[in-house]
Amino acid sequence: MSSEISPSKTHRVEVDSTKCCGYGLCAALCPEVYKLDSDGIIYLESDQISDELLEAATEGAEACPAEVIVIVE
Ligand code: SF4
Repeated sequence: MSSEISPSKTHRVEVDSTKCCGYGLCAALCPEVYKLDSDGIIYLESDQISDELLEAATEGAEACPAEVIVIVE
C-alpha cells in the first residue's frame, strides 16, 4: 500500500460500461461527469468528482437502471 497524500473529500466514480444499456439518464443528469460515446455507452473523461458536481453525479448514478455507476470516497 502506498501512503500518498490524497486530496481531502475527493470522490471518485467507477463505471462498468459492459453493463451499460445506453439509456443516457446519467448523462442527462450530470453531463459534466458522464459522457456517452457514439453508441450511447457511458465513458468518463475523468473519474474524479469535485464537490460541486457530487450531488448531480450521485443523482446520475442513482438514476441508472443498470446500476453501472458507483461513487466511492
Ligand atoms: S444511465 Fe446507466 S445504462 Fe444509461 S447510459 Fe448511463 S450508465 Fe448507461
